[in-house]
Amino acid sequence: MKIHNFNAGPSILPKQVIERSAQSVISFNKSGLSVLEISHRSKYFTEIMEQTTELVKRIMNLNDDYSILFLQGGATLQFTMVPYNLMNQKSAYLDTGIWANNALKEAKKFGEVNILFSGKKNDYTYISENYKIPNEVDYFHCTSNNTIVGTQMKKFPKTSIPIVCDMSSDIFSRKLNFGQFSLIYASAQKNISSAGMTIVIVKKEILGKVKRNIPSYLDYMIHIKNDRILNTPNVFSIYTSMLTLEWIEKKGGLSILEKENEYKAQLLYDEIDKNNLFENKIHKKDRSNMNVTFFLKKKNLEKEFNKMWEKEKIVGLNGHRTLGGYRASIYNALSLESVRFLIHIMKEFEKKFS
Ligand SMILES: *Cc1c(COP(=O)(O)O)cnc(C)c1O
Repeated sequence: MKIHNFNAGPSILPKQVIERSAQSVISFNKSGLSVLEISHRSKYFTEIMEQTTELVKRIMNLNDDYSILFLQGGATLQFTMVPYNLMNQKSAYLDTGIWANNALKEAKKFGEVNILFSGKKNDYTYISENYKIPNEVDYFHCTSNNTIVGTQMKKFPKTSIPIVCDMSSDIFSRKLNFGQFSLIYASAQKNISSAGMTIVIVKKEILGKVKRNIPSYLDYMIHIKNDRILNTPNVFSIYTSMLTLEWIEKKGGLSILEKENEYKAQLLYDEIDKNNLFENKIHKKDRSNMNVTFFLKKKNLEKEFNKMWEKEKIVGLNGHRTLGGYRASIYNALSLESVRFLIHIMKEFEKKFS
């Protein structure tokens, strides 16, 4: 029986990627070794790094003004590294969810944080587009997709202030002008690869402008000066990222994925809106195409609904522990077939209990 994996992260990856990365654990190309056994200084790994970097740049259409880093510590460490490297005295943040809020809490340890919009009092169900970025801040930070509540930024501001964006849960899911960002970070376990690696895409010109003394691992510039291999990186996760990026390119790139993702999300939102038993609480324009959240209108049906989807081998549908309800994470690798199957179960449930 097929498992339909709606996990929020770590989450579903393309089947071919899993198979090839599993195979390379046994035997990596012609090395005679496992990918877990190759040196991070070997020509094998140097090639993986180069190839992965080129794929990121090609798929996102980025030029050599950008450096691509593969770091550890998750997106969570980026909450610290960003202000450490970029903030002299002031920054500006959008508070659009729990992750955004965690990011700005770290920034407050380094100086003054202007919160340009907070969705907190509306339970983060919408994202304002009416905010003004002050001229004197060092950077503006936003979260492109709010994984927990299920909102997504559809518009980014036009500004000469460097834009920093946490794209952990929607990187490589849609076509954007990535050149508008000065720094993008994303932990790998949502849409790219295994946990334990974070992609950081940084425009070199924004670095070297703060006066503080930065610990080596936390200094983007030191990573760049050490050919992006300052210490032993997560070789396996970087290799698996390369496979996912090849899969993306082979599919036809981000515009194709964007169309597929929009279609999957629209089908599911349509069902939630039509179905008598469910509701989505997000303002329509801000609904995420990656994490679709929904709630039962009658809470006493919870046990019955859970029993139904669990029996059908749907996994990962529970909402975030802070929020309850349900969340279908429908990342790049999740098939249209799985979305249709979930919709079918929701319809069956409605027939039975409405
Ligand atoms: C998952 C997630 C994080 C946290 O990532 P870690 O790798 O666990 O540190 C941060 N931001 C967003 C938007 C996320 O979805």
